[in-house]
Amino acid sequence: MRIVFFGPNGSGKGTQAALLKAELKVPHISTGDLLRAAVKAGTPLGLQAKAVMEAGKLVSDEIVLGMLEERVAQADAKGGFILDGYPRNLAQCAALEDLLARIKQPLDIAIELNVPDQAILSRCEIRFKAEHRADDDPAVVRKRLEVYRQQTAPVARHFAEIGKLVTVDGVGSVDEVFKRILSVLPRGGEMWSVQFAPRVPA
Ligand code: AMP
Repeated sequence: MRIVFFGPNGSGKGTQAALLKAELKVPHISTGDLLRAAVKAGTPLGLQAKAVMEAGKLVSDEIVLGMLEERVAQADAKGGFILDGYPRNLAQCAALEDLLARIKQPLDIAIELNVPDQAILSRCEIRFKAEHRADDDPAVVRKRLEVYRQQTAPVARHFAEIGKLVTVDGVGSVDEVFKRILSVLPRGGEMWSVQFAPRVPA
């Protein structure tokens, strides 16, 4: 199954995507993780991406697409994948659709985790105190929420227009949210979620 999983940083998408990976036995491909690995390894692309990531802005479409193409070409992604953090804007969305058409792996569903900004700000503050990730700094989180609204929300609208978006309430315990996600997954070609009409975000 091929899933695009998105939601603002701090919406819990990383945790939920990891659970989903265990459930569906397909790789969890996070462009944020791929970029952080490149930064850590000190590759030329990682060095370019570092400052942009620390400022809460988006890394160039070209860099991210190159990394993604390499990753989905790996053997473990042949049977599907959970894409986390991509696409982040409409240009990336078009690039993804091209890529999936080329490799004949059409997308099954786009899942958006919906969490109010205030809840995201407090979650990130807690994580910032515990893990000291520069991009969890409250000023950076605010910037990322703004980028999400401006650039990523149109992607959600696009998936809604083509009938692929399901918005899941991301407020609640990890288990509660995971159950909601499982309940909207397509099964055997049919949406489990007939009772959950895709919702176009505001
Ligand atoms: P994430 O872990 O998905 O929140 O990603 C962390 C940071 O990596 C983001 O704030 C961006 O700077 C960068 N990043 C991750 N995915 C993308 C993407 N698809 N396009 C551009 N930048 C990205």
